[in-house]
Parts: sequence; C-alpha cells; structure tokens
Amino acid sequence: MRAMEARRTVVPMNLADRLQVAAGRLTGRAVVTLDEAEITYDALELMSARVASMLRRRGIGVGDRVAVMLPNVPEFAVVYYGVLRIGAVVVPLDPLLKRREIASYIGDCGARLLIAWHALAETAEAGTSGTGADCFFVVPEEFRRLLRGVEAEHEIVARAAGDTAVIHYTSGTTGRPKGIELTHANLVSNATTVARMHALGVDDVVLGALPLYHAFGQTCSLNASIHAGARLTLLPRFEPGRALEVIRRDGVTVFQGVPTMYIALLDHLGVSDLSLLRLCVSGGAALPLDVLRVYEARFGCLIMEGYGLSETSPSAATNRAGPGRRPGSIGWPIKDVEMRVVDEIGGEVPCGHVGEIVIRGPNVMKGYWNNPAATAEAIRDGWFHTGDLGRVDDEGFFFVVGRRRDVIIRGGRTVYPREVEEVLYEHPAVRQAAVVGIPHPKLGEEIAAVVVLRAPVEADGLRAFVRERVAAYKYPRHISFADELPMTPTGKILKHAIALPLDATAPHA
Ligand code: AMP
Repeated sequence: MRAMEARRTVVPMNLADRLQVAAGRLTGRAVVTLDEAEITYDALELMSARVASMLRRRGIGVGDRVAVMLPNVPEFAVVYYGVLRIGAVVVPLDPLLKRREIASYIGDCGARLLIAWHALAETAEAGTSGTGADCFFVVPEEFRRLLRGVEAEHEIVARAAGDTAVIHYTSGTTGRPKGIELTHANLVSNATTVARMHALGVDDVVLGALPLYHAFGQTCSLNASIHAGARLTLLPRFEPGRALEVIRRDGVTVFQGVPTMYIALLDHLGVSDLSLLRLCVSGGAALPLDVLRVYEARFGCLIMEGYGLSETSPSAATNRAGPGRRPGSIGWPIKDVEMRVVDEIGGEVPCGHVGEIVIRGPNVMKGYWNNPAATAEAIRDGWFHTGDLGRVDDEGFFFVVGRRRDVIIRGGRTVYPREVEEVLYEHPAVRQAAVVGIPHPKLGEEIAAVVVLRAPVEADGLRAFVRERVAAYKYPRHISFADELPMTPTGKILKHAIALPLDATAPHA
C-alpha cells in the first residue's frame, strides 16, 4: 500500500514532456501521417508550441478546459499537445455528437473554447451557443498558415501528479454526463506501459484506426506511439478494404482495434500479404473466441486481447500474445495495476466464482469532474468499481463475463449473455450476436438473441444449435434477425437500443 502511495506522488510532469523528448532525438522522422499528409516529430513539437501561444493569446491558462472535436487527422495531435503544454485540460468530443450533446458536455465542464473540424462548424456553433464557449475551426491549410505566423511557446508548464490533463465524457445515455478526469500521471504511466507491452519502437508503424477522441485510441495509439518514437498512420473511418490497403502501403506493424473491426476484416475477401504486421491488439469489448481463432488462422498474426475502461486510462489488463496465453481471457493486470474480483460487500470471491472486477493503480482516474457523489460511488476503499463482472482462474487469468447491468435473471437463475453469445458466434452463419433479457410474466426475464447473419439459417436451427451446447435455461427462446446492431464508434453493442420482440410468451419456454 505504501509503495502504491509513493508511486502516486511522483515528480511534476506533463504528458507533453514526452513529445519534447522524442522530438529531440527523432528530428525529421514522421510521427503522424494521413495518406500524403505527414507531420514529423520536430514539426509536431513546434506546431503544438505555436498552438500553446495561440491559446495564451486567447487568455487560456492552467486548468482551463478546451474541448476538441476533431476526427482522426494529424491536426488532432497538434491541438492535443498544444493544449496540454500550457497546463490546460483537453476535453475530447466525438465528432458525431449532436448539438444537444455538445451543449451538455461543454456546459458541464465549463470549457472556454471548442476547437472543431471545419466540416463540423454548424453543429459546433449550435452546440456552444449560450454556453459561453468560443469556437475555433481547423481548416488544414489555413491552420498551418496561421500557425506559421505565431511565435512558439517552448516552455512546457509543469503539472503535479494529481493535475488533470484530459476529461473524457462517458457515453451514458441518461442523466447528468460524467466527465472522467485523467491526470498527467495517469496518462504517462499508461502510455509508457502500453508502449512496453506492445514492444513499440522507432521502426514501428501503428495503424490509427481507433478514434483518437476515445481513451483507447488516444493512449494506446497516439500517446504510446509518441513515447516509443513510432509512426502513427491514421485512418479517419474504418473500412476493412481501406484498412488492409493502408496496412500494406505503409508497412503497418501494429494494429489496435475493437472486435467489430476484426469481424469486418474476416468478412472481407481479397486478402494479400500482411507479413510486416507483427501484433494485433483487441479491446473495448469482448472479442468472441471464435473470431480470435479464425482471424489468427487466416491472417497469421496473433491477437493480444486487452481490457480496460476510460476510467483506467484505459489499459488495465492484457493477455500476452505468445506461449502461455489463455485465449478468451483478458490475461493479467498490467504493470503496477492490481485487479480483484469481489462480491457486493467488497470481499474477494473464490477462484472461478463471478463477481465485480475492481481495479487499483496509477491508471485509475482522479474522479468524475465536479461529481463527488459519483466518484465516491465508483472508487471505494481505493478500488475503482468497474461495473463489469468477471472471474479469475487458479493461475490468475481474468475473464470478463459481461456488464453487471446486462446480466439476465431467468426464473431466479443467472444467465451471462456473453456465454450464450460465444456459442452463437461458433455457428458459421453468425456474423454478430447480442443476447438480452426481455420481460416475461412468470420468469421475470426471458432470453432473447438478435443476430446478424453472414449466411442463411433458420431461427429454429440456430436455437437448436445453442440448445445442444448450454444448460436448458440459457438458450435463447426468441431469436430475431437484424441487418446490423446498434454500435458505439468504439465497438460496443448498444444493448438498450436493440429493437426487441414485444411478446415474451415464448413458444419454446
Ligand atoms: P470505455 O470506457 O468506453 O472504454 O468502455 C469500457 C468498457 O468496455 C468496460 O467496462 C467493459 O465493459 C468493456 N470492455 C473493454 N475491454 C473489454 C474486453 N476485453 N472484454 C470485455 N469487455 C471489455
């Protein structure tokens, strides 16, 4: 415990220091590219120093919030590091947000400025109207011209370990938005560990397919690449054919993605030589075991499955991509991070039993912005309560069985949707599956599945397939088909948004 506290009060640092160090030794080397557009390490350092003085001129200083709504373009890195240099706080926003969502996040964090992509000008203007925040729009050529006329501010403002660097908003659907406060120390430690785990180095080319506004893309793709001196080649929108083309064209060595990206790649025909690809990383949602197996066999590259949350910077655990790993598991906690599986009152559950995953370590957020009640609810006795259910085996491998709120209680018996979904994925006709509980007059809840197919199959056949493989109370009585499932941009199926059959009086009960 004492060692952990000592680690938390480390020397002052700013995430931007890491860029400065890298720029000093990697002059002329590309850091972020998008097709022909390229920014080198030293150019990123200089441009972000110019953004810093531009912000100063606007009266922005230490602790001020600056919202950033940019797609995966090189300018994201310039703005991000520019804001951090002066000790201001980046509030990354999903470019797909609508007016009301922007207004709610900006209102909550009290951002002074929204820096948005030019194509989003109309929504950005509407979203900030009445909030007191100004807008600045990034038009690539104009932005570069503007920066050339600004004197660079080379000094980086030192921040204490507990000072906030970034506020991520959770994708919650109702109630007050929750801003996750991540400190410079959180982000430096997580990016450093990720870079080490993925063995990133100056010769690596990382595919930037994950959205940079989200913690996964920001820490694991952008910050970890910069820490390691690697190059990030951006993909503004994931499309499997395009991703494979960029992987080949740029000699991508590391691909970090969410399960839906792996599923989409499997559906894509026309694969050719990806021999430079040495590591694939999956996170953000459960990677079905069958998808992992088929992908690895087809592309000849192992997938390292990681686990975490925006609240944990995000990386918290990872399976190793080598001998001794346990496919289907999220592996062990990463360096300096502790993870336990606990019951309702915080007691550790025995091996193999399901409980809530709790996390402690230098990656755990400071708290929710201006929301002590939500913070106290999430962080208890120093442990962050994830809301995810999991189990740990006798060798210390962790398995995620699902979100606490997604658990189905059918006639008093607990059903973990993930277990049933895994079986559905084993069926060759199934592309994607979501298992949910629907109200039932006698049982409380009944099991239903919504499935996206890649080949024709009857609901009866699919039901029989699952029924043969799981206990009788677990198989889906209702199976419906959909063309696609509602998803977040980071690959999570939005279970509450799935259209379900209304009549739960199942013929197969
Ligand atoms: P976010 O805060 O958007 O990064 O979402 C975090 C959530 O994603 C976690 O609470 C989990 O429910 C889910 N998640 C992330 N990685 C995994 C994984 N490897 N397996 C299952 N669920 C995951």
